[in-house]
Amino acid sequence: MRQFLVAGNWKMNTQRATAVALATDVARGAASATGVEVLVCPPFPYLEAVAGAIRGSSVRLGAQNASAEKPGAYTGETAIEMLIDCGCASVILGHSERRTLYGETDALVNRKVKAVRTQGLQAILCVGEQLADREAERTEQILDGQMTGSLEGVDGDAVADLVIAYEPVWAIGTGKTASPEQAQAAHAHLRKWLAGRYNPAVADGIRILYGGSVKADNALTLLQQPDIDGALVGGASLSAANFLPIVEAGVQAQGK
Ligand code: PEP
Repeated sequence: MRQFLVAGNWKMNTQRATAVALATDVARGAASATGVEVLVCPPFPYLEAVAGAIRGSSVRLGAQNASAEKPGAYTGETAIEMLIDCGCASVILGHSERRTLYGETDALVNRKVKAVRTQGLQAILCVGEQLADREAERTEQILDGQMTGSLEGVDGDAVADLVIAYEPVWAIGTGKTASPEQAQAAHAHLRKWLAGRYNPAVADGIRILYGGSVKADNALTLLQQPDIDGALVGGASLSAANFLPIVEAGVQAQGK
């Protein structure tokens, strides 16, 4: 059985004090969330402060991006070695904001996935279609292209701990959520793709998170879908009062 994962992507939000307070509240609240893995992904400057706040709890630390390069002359970049040094266990890669605002291509995301896996961190690979793609019924084609490009040459042990996040771009930060049926259809398609690219056992073990305006009031129906194994949460992860009920929905949806 795949364990639910609920991850908070804090994006470029919080300051040191608010990050520590939020992490402390999440760690306290998540203590009773038996069986659900909880991950927080603060901005780079607060990784260590948040690592301190969640120490001793079940909450894990993640980063929102990583360089594909080894440490060296890459102004403004953050090496995977540095993330490990700060206590990160996971890294979000290929988020739609990285793709659309910073020009990240599937080829670059692929280099990052490989580098992250080589260093033993968990990659959370984001894929998702734009509104125009969905309206033109090109969702599956777009997802296939992103998966093929981002996972080229990623084989064997490298896929063991991989997490996929399906995030329809039109649902991110917009308040529009994919319906449970739309999300389930995309997740089932991604799992079928994984079974074809790898094998059914690998596909069955890989967690596929849904992301896009997940909130306390829509989380349960989404998480009850057979191929939805958790949530990648943006806006609602910035307050423990909004985030913890999503974690709780994961507890309730277990064993669906
Ligand atoms: C995200 O950015 O990964 C995300 C899902 O954001 P939101 O929950 O705010 O739509």
